Amino acid sequence: MRTHASLLLALAALQTGCVEPAPPVRSAPIAADPAPLEPARIAAPAPAPAEPPRALPRWVWVLPVDHGIRADRGGAGGFLAPRAHGKHNGIDLLAPLGTPVRAPCAGKARAGQNSSHGKWVQLVCALPSELGLEPARRVSLFFAHLKDVAGLGEAMAEVAAGAELGSVGKTGNASSAIIAAHLHLEAIVHDDEPSALAEHHSGRDQSDTRGAREVGGALSSRCLGPAGLASKAESLWRARRADPFVLLVCLGAEKPAYTRPSGKLAEASYPWSSEYSATGFDVDAGNPAGK
Ligand SMILES: [Zn+2]
Repeated sequence: MRTHASLLLALAALQTGCVEPAPPVRSAPIAADPAPLEPARIAAPAPAPAEPPRALPRWVWVLPVDHGIRADRGGAGGFLAPRAHGKHNGIDLLAPLGTPVRAPCAGKARAGQNSSHGKWVQLVCALPSELGLEPARRVSLFFAHLKDVAGLGEAMAEVAAGAELGSVGKTGNASSAIIAAHLHLEAIVHDDEPSALAEHHSGRDQSDTRGAREVGGALSSRCLGPAGLASKAESLWRARRADPFVLLVCLGAEKPAYTRPSGKLAEASYPWSSEYSATGFDVDAGNPAGK
């Protein structure tokens, strides 16, 4: 995703202030009759020291393999796909049972279990400062139907970007034989950390947040527009819920290239290009230009 990386690089360069070193200041020669100062010899104010370059915001893709979106007799797994209860609030990433699930960002995580989501992990992260948002804004990421969770419990614990959160499973309402193994992933934007930590990812709550509108605006101007990235059928937002694919891609997560899985999973596998289009990069490929 060189397009995004370049955009973010440009942003970072702007924000870290690529200040050119000032020319050496020459002192005026001592003379009995002071000559008028030439404009070029007037000392410019000393520039502020340049900050060291900051690391680019680079999120991590959630799985080590990419088999695209799950769709099978149990339903379609795209963002906002029609469901018996209304619309799908996340994306179902098709993957073999036991595939490790990684934290896209550093943040605070906890785990739990309920009848519909099965074993789940919630991860709350700050958003990259390069987006120019209010610094308090947070995203709550939700990973459901896990087979197991990696040492997480009810209390929030700090996790690093790329840390293993658990593995892909079929728990909760994904346990039916007609539903292929997948990771259900949701992303909800909140105004601050306390409200993000209190997020329950219940489909009954479709309230909006100021933060979600802010992130939507920032992604539109800095990622979706320049990359020509769009959903072919659906909105990329549902009130405070973001399309997780778009959020991760725009934040620089290097997705592995899409491959059709072998065996039973193959018929449930739909590439990203079946749901998204982009003019600036190939939505199915990983990061071919950036390597
Ligand atoms: Zn789902």
